[in-house]
Amino acid sequence: MSTMFHRRLLMALLVSLAFAAFPASTTYADHSWNGYHWARTANPFNLKLGDNVSSAWDSYLTTTASSNAYGWGWSSVLNTSIDSGKNLSNLRKCPPTSGRVEVCSYKYGTNGWLGLAQIWISSSHITQGVVKLNDSYFDNSRYPKYNTAPWRNLVMCQEVGHTFGLDHQDETFNNPNLETCMDYTNDPSTNQYPNQHDYDQLAAIYAHPDSTTTVGQTVQSGPGKGKLPPSLTDPDSDDPVQLGTAQWGKLIRSTNNGRTELYELDLGRGHKVLTHVIWADPEDLPAPARGRR
Ligand SMILES: [Zn+2]
Ligand SMILES: [Zn+2]
Repeated sequence: MSTMFHRRLLMALLVSLAFAAFPASTTYADHSWNGYHWARTANPFNLKLGDNVSSAWDSYLTTTASSNAYGWGWSSVLNTSIDSGKNLSNLRKCPPTSGRVEVCSYKYGTNGWLGLAQIWISSSHITQGVVKLNDSYFDNSRYPKYNTAPWRNLVMCQEVGHTFGLDHQDETFNNPNLETCMDYTNDPSTNQYPNQHDYDQLAAIYAHPDSTTTVGQTVQSGPGKGKLPPSLTDPDSDDPVQLGTAQWGKLIRSTNNGRTELYELDLGRGHKVLTHVIWADPEDLPAPARGRR
């Protein structure tokens, strides 16, 4: 009898241990971008996206900013609204504006990258963000593959998603799609919009209130806040063929033979600029760009 009792106790113990070993990880993927987040005192907070994109991109910006299930505004913790852009006469540099995200499209050159997202960090708080969409691929008859709704949706949605502090859910191009724009793929047809894991991750990142806010701030102070570091104001600073990628700082992560890369520029005193870059398929690049690696 006592042996039986002990056996049952042991079984109960093993069962509870098995459950304890797989808690949240099976519930949703952890893909926060190093815990970076906008400081705000309450949820939902409203983040303005500056519209500096061409008319060909307008509907994609509207989709990703919408509050329906195709947009980031579907999240319970944040709303996004489209505001007039501050960079319409300065699309090439597309400088940041404190407290919001500027989204720019421009022919940045056939330098290899389709899009990038940059966030300025003060300690762990995001203070401003920039998204650049490279029309040298999206609006170029030599690359018809990218001038499609799925590719435009994926890149717009993913780069804007990075500016909230989200990382990729998956970085392998040729495995089954996770049905989120935060998943790399060679076929974006089913990876055009956020999925529930993204909204769950946002809820986790923004679960805690802050005592201060970095959203909507117009006061410009501190290094890197409201202005570009010198290396990023160079007119050709986003053309790695001409200048290399050094202007984005140190390469801190590279996957898929360099098709996805993350750079970090340290401005000192806890201030950093981080740049997420999605590169075009190497087969789509002209010979000089293909040879740069
Ligand atoms: Zn915080
Ligand atoms: Zn990305």
